Amino acid sequence: MLHRQPPFSGFVTPVYTLGNLGPAAEALRAGGLVVFPTETVYGIGASALLDHAVARIFQAKGRPQDNPLILHIHSTALLADAVSSVPRSAELLFEAFSPGPLTIVLPKARRVSPLVTAGLPTVGIRIPSHPVAREFLEMCKVPVAAPSANISGEPSPTSLEMALSGLDAKVDCAVDGGFCQHGIESTIVRCSDDEVVLLRPGAITLEMIASCLEEELPGVRVRVPAAEGGGDVAPARPEAPGMSYRHYQPRAEVWVTERVDGARTRKRFHGRRFGVIAMNRPPVGVGPATPVYVMNSAEEYAHLLYRKLVWFDDQGCEVIIAELPPPHGVGLAVRDRLQRAAGGQEL
Ligand code: AMP
Ligand code: MG
Repeated sequence: MLHRQPPFSGFVTPVYTLGNLGPAAEALRAGGLVVFPTETVYGIGASALLDHAVARIFQAKGRPQDNPLILHIHSTALLADAVSSVPRSAELLFEAFSPGPLTIVLPKARRVSPLVTAGLPTVGIRIPSHPVAREFLEMCKVPVAAPSANISGEPSPTSLEMALSGLDAKVDCAVDGGFCQHGIESTIVRCSDDEVVLLRPGAITLEMIASCLEEELPGVRVRVPAAEGGGDVAPARPEAPGMSYRHYQPRAEVWVTERVDGARTRKRFHGRRFGVIAMNRPPVGVGPATPVYVMNSAEEYAHLLYRKLVWFDDQGCEVIIAELPPPHGVGLAVRDRLQRAAGGQEL
């Protein structure tokens, strides 16, 4: 039975929920595109075994062809079909953090289509933990190629409504799983026998990865591509293709700052409607009519980031000034997304 909920009544895409995922899995197996929830963000999935279906993902999103997709699988039992080897470091990381918000890049098996990997010899593998995603993937019985379910360059969707506001009628159906727990995309690491490289920061932090490996594999180096510079992860030469594209950008222009200075901000953006995302306490001196949202932790920031960017658009803001969370834990990943949303613009 088709399930449509009131908030989605403006959309034409059929929506299914837990307990009734069969038709969504069938649609995917038959070559369809399906929006589905994960604990990070919503994905737009296609059967990785069908090139024409995978190609439709790129069309629907307006995604550049050289930006690889992540393969989503139900369990490590399916790994052997997708990758040609699994170093011990990857085994340990899968054991510790999967199912969960971690993507591991490994040498790809021959049968994985170059369309999925954008011609790379490697493939990113993720085992989501969201109960609806798990049920859906189990029913699909094939690896599901999926990027985030947004129009290329825009903020990733963390609710079904956000996903359908960009992709309604471009997909065959959708699965509702509520709001995404983490709210930002998975951590991505590339694993080999001698090193683990952080390609994209996320909820699984570099410290968690290093401490998971240190006892059994003390010789394996855990690093970020720009390790020498320290601080934020913003490699000059990105090792994850696609990370260098315009990313996560709402309609409003985004500026990041460590602390908002109300008087300077009003002068700088005089005559333009701006909003402020503040960290821990409301900003002083930005004016009573300024839309403000205060984040109380880096976790809350991650959880709400993309939804709030869109909210400021809806408030008619032309500019969003975002205070950065402290640079540790998941704060590093939030800083990474904000700095990309800002295209490097800093106050
Ligand atoms: P999205 O799901 O929209 O966050 O996009 C997936 C991202 O994963 C891509 O933009 C790449 O940065 C990264 N990725 C996927 N596969 C690989 C791979 N084989 N090597 C490096 N990065 C990858
Ligand atoms: Mg994306």
